Amino acid sequence: VRGALARADLHRGQAYVDGAWISAASGLTIAVDDPFTGAVIGSVPSLARGECQAAIDAAERAFPAWSRELARTRGAILRRWYDLVMAHQEDLARLITLENGKPIREARAEVAYGAGFIEFYAEEAGRIFGETIPANVPGRRLMVEHEPVGVCAAITPWNFPLAMLTRKAAPAFAAGCTMVAKPASQTPLAALALAVLAEEAGLPRGVLNVITGKASMIGDLLTASPVVRKISFTGSTEIGAQLMQASAAQIKRLSLELGGNAPLLVFDNADLDAALDTAMVAKFRNSGQSCVAANRIYVQRGIYETFLIALTARIARMRFGDGFDEATDIGPLIDLPGVAKVEEHLDEAVAGGGKLLIGGKAAGGRLMPPTLVRDVAADALLTREETFGPLAGVIPFDTIEQGVALANATPFGLAAYMCSSDPATIARVGRDIESGMVGINTGLISTAVVPFGGVKMSGLGREGSRHGLAEYLNMKYLCHAGL
Ligand code: ADP
Repeated sequence: VRGALARADLHRGQAYVDGAWISAASGLTIAVDDPFTGAVIGSVPSLARGECQAAIDAAERAFPAWSRELARTRGAILRRWYDLVMAHQEDLARLITLENGKPIREARAEVAYGAGFIEFYAEEAGRIFGETIPANVPGRRLMVEHEPVGVCAAITPWNFPLAMLTRKAAPAFAAGCTMVAKPASQTPLAALALAVLAEEAGLPRGVLNVITGKASMIGDLLTASPVVRKISFTGSTEIGAQLMQASAAQIKRLSLELGGNAPLLVFDNADLDAALDTAMVAKFRNSGQSCVAANRIYVQRGIYETFLIALTARIARMRFGDGFDEATDIGPLIDLPGVAKVEEHLDEAVAGGGKLLIGGKAAGGRLMPPTLVRDVAADALLTREETFGPLAGVIPFDTIEQGVALANATPFGLAAYMCSSDPATIARVGRDIESGMVGINTGLISTAVVPFGGVKMSGLGREGSRHGLAEYLNMKYLCHAGL
C-alpha cells in the first residue's frame, strides 16, 4: 500500500489536546490528499472554537509544572523525543511524502533536519544561564534571569510539515513554555505523528497540543486569547501581517518567518561546478517550494552562456514524478493553485522576452517539469513574487554594483546566494546584500545550529541556534539592595 507505515498508529486522524486524541463533536473533518494521485489519504477534525480553546486551557494548566521542571529533565525528554523521531525516520518520511508529495529522499532529509532541532535544544535546555552585572551603587546586586514566555502558539506551513514544527516546539519546551500547534490543513499528519512520539518520550500532557480546523478561526482565537503570550508563525507575509495586527492589542511576542524572494548571483569568476550545484539545490529542492528557494538567478555576462548550457544539461537529467519513487528529484506541487501560480510566472516571463530552454507547463495533475527560462526581464513577475515551484528564470548582469542592486530590489530579505571564487567580491556582496542569510558557494545553508530568519518583509526573529531559544524567554532583572 502506498505510504504504508511500519507503525500504522503514527498516521492519526484526530487532534491531540491535553494528552487525549479527540474528534470534532460536530463530526466535521478536513480531508487530506496525496498530491501525486489526488486521492484522499486521511482526514483530521475540523474543531470548533470551544474545542480549540480547550487546547489553550490545557497548555495553561500544564505551564506551571513544566516551567518549574528541572532543565535537565526537560532536556532528557527532548532527547528521548529526538531518539524516537530518528528511530521512526522512515515512517515519518513516508507520511511527509504522502501528504506533501516531496521526493522520499528529501522527506528523509527533512526528518533528520527537523530532529536536529530537538537534539540541539535538548542540549541547550540546561544552558539557559543568567547574568550578574557589576553594581552601579554600593550594596546592590544586579541579576538577570531568563523565564519562559508562557503558553505559545505555533502556526506552521505545508512545505516542511515536520521540521517547521520541531524548530518551534523544541526551543519552546527547552525554555519551559507549553504550546498549541496548528499545522497547515494540507499537511497535518506529520505534526500529529510528532505528538504521538512526544507523548512516548514522556512529555507531560498539555505541554504540546496539536489542533486542526479552519485556519482563520484558529488564528483569531490564538491572537485574541490573553493566555497565549507568543505566536511563532511560518507562512506568507500576508497572513503574517494579519497575525501581527491581531496580536497588537495584547502586545504578544511574535516570531515570523515569512516570504522570501532569494536571489542567486553567479559571478564570472565562480567555479562552474560549484555554481551549478548551488543553483540546482537552491532552486529545485522541495520542487522549489521553499521560502529560501533561489527565485531569481542573476548571472554575470562573461559566464552567462556557459552557465546556461551546463544548467540546461543538469536539468535534463532530473526526474520528476512520484515522490515515492527513489529516483524522483521533483515531486508534484502541493495543490492546483500552486501549479497555476508557477504557470502564470512562466507565461509572463516568456511574454516579456524570456526564452524557454527546457521544461514547460504542468504535465497533468500537479506535476511540473523543472523549467529554465533565459533572458528574463529584470522586472518580470518571477523576480517580484515568490514562485514556489520548479521554474528558474535567469537574468544577465554586468557589474557587481548592478548585480547587488538587482538582488536588493525587493521588499523581502530572507536568504541570498552568491557564487564567486574571489574573496573581495564575496566580502563586498556579503556586506551589501540585504538579507538575513547568505549562502556563499552553496545553496544548502539551513541547520539547527544557526540563526534562520529574515530582514525587511521576510519577518521577525530567528529560529535555530541559541538565538532561537531566546525567542521563548523573557528577561527578568532583579535589583537586590541593602547588602
Ligand atoms: P502558504 O502559502 O504557505 O499556505 P499561509 O500563510 O496561507 O501560507 O499558511 C501558513 C499557515 O498559516 C497554515 O497553517 C495556514 O493554515 C495558516 N493560516 C492561513 N490563514 C490563516 C489565518 N487567517 N490565521 C491564522 N493562520 C492562518
